[in-house]
Amino acid sequence: LAKERGKNNFQFYTLEMTEKSIERMKVERGLRHALAHDELRLHYQPQICTGSGVVISAEALVRWQHPEWGLVYPDRFINVAEETGLIVPIGAWVLREACLQAKTWIENDGPFGSVAVNVSARQFLDTNLFQTVKRTLAETGLNPSVLELEITESAIMQDPENTLQVLHQFQGLGVRLSIDDFGTGYSSLTYLRRFPIQSVKIDRSFVIDLPCDEGSKTLVRAITALAHELKLSVVVEGVETRDQLSFLTEQKCDSLQGYMFSRPVSAEQFQQDFINSGFKTYLPNTSNDQP
Ligand code: C2E
Ligand code: MG
Ligand code: MG
Ligand code: MG
Repeated sequence: LAKERGKNNFQFYTLEMTEKSIERMKVERGLRHALAHDELRLHYQPQICTGSGVVISAEALVRWQHPEWGLVYPDRFINVAEETGLIVPIGAWVLREACLQAKTWIENDGPFGSVAVNVSARQFLDTNLFQTVKRTLAETGLNPSVLELEITESAIMQDPENTLQVLHQFQGLGVRLSIDDFGTGYSSLTYLRRFPIQSVKIDRSFVIDLPCDEGSKTLVRAITALAHELKLSVVVEGVETRDQLSFLTEQKCDSLQGYMFSRPVSAEQFQQDFINSGFKTYLPNTSNDQP
């Protein structure tokens, strides 16, 4: 970093680097403000049971309602939050908010079974994560089995032995665990077998060219077969078209998530669309495949 090399190296900054670091500083400062002023929001995207077509769970996805920038998506701030450590308090907020929300949805008699919360590499390496999760569950009164933690394959593989220990702690607590963005992070099969997880989420990059691309088809088939062999359930993200839906149904993928069913929506909208409606079987809109 230029800072380490001394002030005289400032001239080596390119314009692009300067713009990037200014953006980064703005985002960092903004995020601190956001945490203190309640500007973070959670949106929820339904996960649909392939067999029955009902909404069985939701993935919580963080957004930032900025007073001037509007609704800011995680692509713009999760990296900065990770680099600065702000992901730890942000993650704690997300967890609490998602648990509180799930608690009210679960009380409606219905198939709704769990809420999934993303945990990034930096959070996972934070030794307090386990205590934070445990305390949040106790404080919100949510049954641990309703909470699912999504950990990316690449985060897990940064330090698989340590990860294994942490995953066992979470298993002991009774929360569900899944590997996010599966297929992109080179996990070894040995670990996959040893991890106390319940599901894998096939990354959208494997879905985007379905069902035309032979390579994608082969990979989805292989991952699904492997996961099922290991008694793991398969969630597929990024389902956008009827053709993808029928291929994935044929492959017996267990649950599906994607714009075809719904974009991530506010808690109010989710409640209206999926909880109040009695979780009725989802029927894809036949008139238009695209979101
Ligand atoms: P992810 O966990 O893999 O989440 C899936 C992303 O794919 C979400 O983007 C979702 O809106 C998007 N998506 C879902 N279905 C479709 C589809 O059919 N088509 C397309 N094109 N996209 C689809 P989002 O909400 O922008 O989140 C991006 C990433 O940011 C997430 O990827 C996750 O890694 C991270 N993230 C989001 N919320 C949190 C959070 O609370 N904590 C942490 N640590 N990371 C988060
Ligand atoms: Mg996820
Ligand atoms: Mg994912
Ligand atoms: Mg992904």
